[in-house]
Amino acid sequence: MRISITDILSGRVRIVYRRPRRKLKETPEVAELRKAAKAYLPGRLRELAVEHGFTVNQVRIKHNVSNWGSCSVKGNINLNLNLMRLPSELQDYVMLHELCHLRYMNHGPEFHTLLESLCPNHKALRKQLKEYKLI
Ligand SMILES: [Zn+2]
Repeated sequence: MRISITDILSGRVRIVYRRPRRKLKETPEVAELRKAAKAYLPGRLRELAVEHGFTVNQVRIKHNVSNWGSCSVKGNINLNLNLMRLPSELQDYVMLHELCHLRYMNHGPEFHTLLESLCPNHKALRKQLKEYKLI
């Protein structure tokens, strides 16, 4: 398709710039974290889910530099392999945070009340988590 400047200025055609997604390198360190993450995190997440009465669908281990974990409306939870670099209470905090999203898909007051009930020191843990960078 030929696009003229008139098409763009009139709004008939919209130019969308997508930033190329940075491909993360599977360094030996990352490979090691992935292996450890797969062996530990799904089991621990399911343990916490059972303990607190959540139903989790699929659990996947991801490598990205944008989040520690995420949760979808389908009940799937993604966990970042970087979690293996954290002390266990921070790992649990991130997993409990994601589990709470199974009930509330936002960070509203109800979400925080629920998280508070499962993880009373979540505010301090959130601060500690900020000291770690995703690699
Ligand atoms: Zn969240």
